[in-house]
Amino acid sequence: MSSKSLLESILSALSNEVRAEVLKLISMEGPLSFTTIMEKLDMNPKTDAGKFGYHLRMLNEAELIKSDESSGKYYLTLLGQDVANFIYGVEDAVRRKKGDMLVRTSSLTIEPFERKKIVDALMREASVPRKLAESISKEAEDRLKKLQVRYLTAALIREFINTILLEKGLEEYRHALTRLGQPVYDVTTTIKNTAFRDYPSPEKVHMLAGDAVLEEYTLLKVLPRTIADAHLCGAIHLNNANYWSLRPADIHHDLRPFLDGALPVDGTGLAMPTHSRPKSFTGALYTVNSLLRSTSAMVSNSQSIGFFNIFLAPFIKNMDDDAVESAIRDFLYDMNGCLMVSGNADIAINAELEVPSFLEDVKAVGPDGKSDKYSDYYDESLRLLRLFLDVMSEPDGSSKPLTRPTLFLKVRKRSLVTDKASACFESAYKLAERWGSVYFINQMLPWQHSNVFYNSDLSRIDSEWKDWESGTMRVGSLDNITLNLPRIAYDANGDDDRMMERLRELLELSREALSIKKQILEERMHIDRLLPLYREEYEGNNYFRLNDSPGIISYVGLPEAVKYHTGLDLSDSNDALKLATRIVDTMNGYTRQMLPSTRLLTSSITFEPSAQRLTQLDIASGYLKSKDAQIYTEHSNLPLTTAIPLRKRLNIEGLFHQKTKGGHLFDIRLAEPFPTYEVLSNNTKRIMETAAIGLFTFTRDYSYCARCRNVTYGLHAKCPKCGYDGNRIVLYTKTYGRIKPSKIWSTNEREFALNTQRFTL
Ligand SMILES: [Zn+2]
Repeated sequence: MSSKSLLESILSALSNEVRAEVLKLISMEGPLSFTTIMEKLDMNPKTDAGKFGYHLRMLNEAELIKSDESSGKYYLTLLGQDVANFIYGVEDAVRRKKGDMLVRTSSLTIEPFERKKIVDALMREASVPRKLAESISKEAEDRLKKLQVRYLTAALIREFINTILLEKGLEEYRHALTRLGQPVYDVTTTIKNTAFRDYPSPEKVHMLAGDAVLEEYTLLKVLPRTIADAHLCGAIHLNNANYWSLRPADIHHDLRPFLDGALPVDGTGLAMPTHSRPKSFTGALYTVNSLLRSTSAMVSNSQSIGFFNIFLAPFIKNMDDDAVESAIRDFLYDMNGCLMVSGNADIAINAELEVPSFLEDVKAVGPDGKSDKYSDYYDESLRLLRLFLDVMSEPDGSSKPLTRPTLFLKVRKRSLVTDKASACFESAYKLAERWGSVYFINQMLPWQHSNVFYNSDLSRIDSEWKDWESGTMRVGSLDNITLNLPRIAYDANGDDDRMMERLRELLELSREALSIKKQILEERMHIDRLLPLYREEYEGNNYFRLNDSPGIISYVGLPEAVKYHTGLDLSDSNDALKLATRIVDTMNGYTRQMLPSTRLLTSSITFEPSAQRLTQLDIASGYLKSKDAQIYTEHSNLPLTTAIPLRKRLNIEGLFHQKTKGGHLFDIRLAEPFPTYEVLSNNTKRIMETAAIGLFTFTRDYSYCARCRNVTYGLHAKCPKCGYDGNRIVLYTKTYGRIKPSKIWSTNEREFALNTQRFTL
């Protein structure tokens, strides 16, 4: 044997297919024992052992394999690995010669091309009749073979089939076979750019990549093409398109089932630790935060806690102020920290300055299970609110403010005429003066009904629907469709009737989209079981009252639409105002027509800034001539960049607040020097008494320098204290109604932050 050269030994070792298979097997699976190799090659260990031993000896003598003395297993030498690779290459060449193809599949395996798989996919995914599927797959196979593609993937075959379907005019089938996903380039761009536009984290990149797929899924699969096209061409804007087919926009929680142990915070009790019944204020606050954390994955925008200080009042009964404050501080830090990490769901707290009459005799849930009523805890509820406001006013350990929750303060008649709530009011005005982080609800306006809640996304809900419980608790906005009003005006070309007709068409389209959303949520809750807490039974209903939850139809560009149609400015023409009122009345009238079966609400609030997209689409489609046309007005009925006196704005916006019961806000953006809290107090009372504004807030601009940990009022790119002007300066103001640091402003949020009108009181 030794007379034979090594090359000769290798060539003779390769002259048999069994030996080639052994090399390939060990190269794929690593060291293997004698019997395992026999089994894997379907040889019989009893009858074939002799013959097989001979094969192994040949490979061993050619120095391609060796056996490991301790384990007895055979492994490949370096030479053996080279030769195995050579065999793969020869096999590929043979396949190419024969015209066979290998396919890289989406499950990351390599398989020989099988025409039958195409037939199956065409029939399964697009219901193509068998005969047609057969002929398409044959054509695909022939053409792919001719092309001799080197790196054939399942995705590429799909593209190829799609092209054949298009060539044959079979567009409907092609539509059903669409593959969702992003170009490699886009994913790379997301990874490279996320840190520059948001709080960076790998999770954020993952979310953005997922968003792209699910948004396409919604537009291609979930919604009829008329609706998807209306969104894509910019007649409407579908808010939360990325999550449209998965979850509602927001929810208003009822804390009572969690405080009395009737429901675990995650619905099932399987995912999170839970107090069966919290025995202390700290325990109760822990329960609230657990609820918010587990539900943050189940909403797109925000969660709200209603009657916060009333439902928690029984838990502070025997505590002193210091202990209550300390518990609130921990609660707020925990809330702000956790939600920052987990992402996108904002928190609202709706607080009361008195116990509303409908709650007075309701049995209170407290730590000791005694059966007293909420009216017994009036004083505690005010004390809790005052301490909460005071803690919200404090900066954190590095001198910056807490930006969560969005705090809504409900002002009812009694709290204004008695002195009981005056300490709370004072704390609220001080908080408004310091950070602007309080929102005032005028609950005295008759159209606010007995109860109203606002959420962090500025949507609004009231008890006109059924009663205060079914109307406002355990419900949420399904989602929001925004109408591009200027587009309607361009299409109408000055014709009133055409304008109203087009408006009604889009309202009808929006209603259809929102009713589809409701059906989808029903399916996600009950069939797909993606929203466990929502489907949990409580008091004869699911926790989330889907049928009581409203769909929202909103608008952008009211003043621009009116200006185009009449040539007049909304701020100084009665005719313009008349048309604007008619537009919003038509929207409002349409939603009210759907009562009592369907709950729809009109809103002047978009959930995500959409005016920029819609303006740009109008420019791209030639509706707007100027490339640098101003972005349409959003979140307001009057243009925000034009100087209009505050009183006039209050009067005009007041006309619209009562017509936009799905959401509105009057944001009183104030210039420096900022008024004192006493001035804010006087103005708040005057606005409540003289204007029909449902919700308003005072906004103060401030800048934070993370280098010297200092806050300066006003927007300063350079720290006035230490002179630093790098990227650790963060500007704060409300953009589209919510406090947002400049780190996460989009381009049009930056425009909004810097260029909207500031008032002086
Ligand atoms: Zn500084």
